[in-house]
Amino acid sequence: MLRRTKIVATLGPASSDAKVLEQMISAGVDVVRMNFSHGSPQDHMARADKVRAAAIAVGRTVGILADLQGPKIRVRKFKNDKIILNKGDMFILDAAWDGLGNQERVGLDYKELPNDVSKGSVLLLNDGMLEFDVAEVRGTEVHCRVVRGGVLSNNKGINRKGGGLTAPALTDKDKEDIKTAALIKADFLAVSFPRSADDMHLARELMHEAGGKSLLVAKIERAEAIPVLGEIIDASDAIMVARGDLSVEVGDAAVPGLQKRMIKMARARNKLVITATQMMESMISNPIPTRAEVSDVANAVLDGTDAVMLSAETAVGDYPVETIQAMARICVQAEKEKEDSSTDHRLSHSKFNRVDQSIAMSALYAASHFKVKAIVALTQSGSTALWMSRVNAGVPIFALTPVEATLTKVTLFSGVHPIVFKSSSKDPSATLLEAEEKLVQSGLVEDGDLMVMTVGEAIGKSGHTNTLKIVRVGDHKK
Ligand code: PGA
Ligand code: MN
Repeated sequence: MLRRTKIVATLGPASSDAKVLEQMISAGVDVVRMNFSHGSPQDHMARADKVRAAAIAVGRTVGILADLQGPKIRVRKFKNDKIILNKGDMFILDAAWDGLGNQERVGLDYKELPNDVSKGSVLLLNDGMLEFDVAEVRGTEVHCRVVRGGVLSNNKGINRKGGGLTAPALTDKDKEDIKTAALIKADFLAVSFPRSADDMHLARELMHEAGGKSLLVAKIERAEAIPVLGEIIDASDAIMVARGDLSVEVGDAAVPGLQKRMIKMARARNKLVITATQMMESMISNPIPTRAEVSDVANAVLDGTDAVMLSAETAVGDYPVETIQAMARICVQAEKEKEDSSTDHRLSHSKFNRVDQSIAMSALYAASHFKVKAIVALTQSGSTALWMSRVNAGVPIFALTPVEATLTKVTLFSGVHPIVFKSSSKDPSATLLEAEEKLVQSGLVEDGDLMVMTVGEAIGKSGHTNTLKIVRVGDHKK
């Protein structure tokens, strides 16, 4: 059975070896995430080459997601790499401190912190492991009382409970990194900590200036993003349910509900959605997942996410290949449980204003109500495949395209499978026959199977899909 849900895997030291990378891709990685928090532009370029070589070696199509660091607020380094803080201790976060940290204070990379907080603000460090109450702000010094203690080590992150830090989403480093993302032709560019649609508009502008064509992913991980979710989604091509930082800002218990809301909103707006962070966390050091992790991945699938993401599990974990295998297996099984949403979607009340969109939705409607084996979209830009994939009709969608950038983009679309296809003819009927032949040869359909196919009469032109045909495989030979 073909897996609908896509797997995004973060690369790191644990997945740098070419053989491991090949095994991971074979095991089911659809998109690799390059974390721009680590490494130089040269590193990213070398890594992208390595990924593409590995994908060719194992014969799969893999997309590349470049994830900008964004204004992650962190403490600086300590003299002895870490300190231990106990409940009730006083500790100073000092924006003007240039030296190494000690038991009394540590420097900050974000100089605005003293202006953004006041007495009573709650700060969460190291993904919420430690909690500080701000007792007083004195010039550049934020004096904190430790509410929940623990180990505080070099470069750990700081979040403010409830949000409200004024840092803009795109730092100077991010602006430079957008150029690198364009250079390596990243399929997806993730913006960290966007507060508004404007942050996404700016990212898009900078990417276009750099000559990039990446789809934009808004990472929803700031409290401020929640009230303006719809606008942020409209300004993006995809969102990430970035549960790590989001959980710290809005409180962990709010996140499962928000995940469901975000997935629904993204799909209803014809946008993509990735569910991320700690999905298989225990597999960083164990060869099998916990029951809770299995449920978490399965539930994200049932919520309707396009993709599930791995972070440290594949970047620094001991079992990167096993983690992908486990995730793939969980997704496939969960998909069997998922009833298709064939009839109750927008189909009854929404209006389409494009010919290609109307064809895509008609194909989907036909496939949902008439037992076909596959939907086949002959596409240039991938738009028809995107529209078709917003509703689960319970059948695979094969996106046939000669365009390399389209093949690697559809890797993130749930239920869509990229297939290289270049018609030798300009005639739509001949092209459909050639496409049918290609699918038969690939073993994806066989004589007697019904397929819904879409194509543009102007073969090779983007946005021109205007034809829908229901075909029984092999009938043309009779
Ligand atoms: P990160 O984003 O891994 O870049 O922090 C994801 C998250 O916050 O969940
Ligand atoms: Mn984050």
